[in-house]
Amino acid sequence: MAYKKPMPVLIDEKVNYLKNNIQSVLRMGFIYRNCLNCIEWDEGKEECKRFKSRPPATIIVYSCPQWSQAVSDDDIPF
Ligand code: SF4
Repeated sequence: MAYKKPMPVLIDEKVNYLKNNIQSVLRMGFIYRNCLNCIEWDEGKEECKRFKSRPPATIIVYSCPQWSQAVSDDDIPF
């Protein structure tokens, strides 16, 4: 069978808008865990405060077992 060059995926403006909103909800709702929504992430230094280093890309994207959700007002037990 002859090689067929893959066609680029065309994403129109509406699909792109929807994709960006879904990503934002998953990230900010802590459904999709990654370093950027972990309480240990240092935004300024762009590194993990717990391990004092910048994790590999796969860890940044998928998180590590020590991922921890930011504490919100809802977590205060009194
Ligand atoms: S998910 Fe793991 S590596 Fe990433 S910031 Fe949190 S503790 Fe650090």
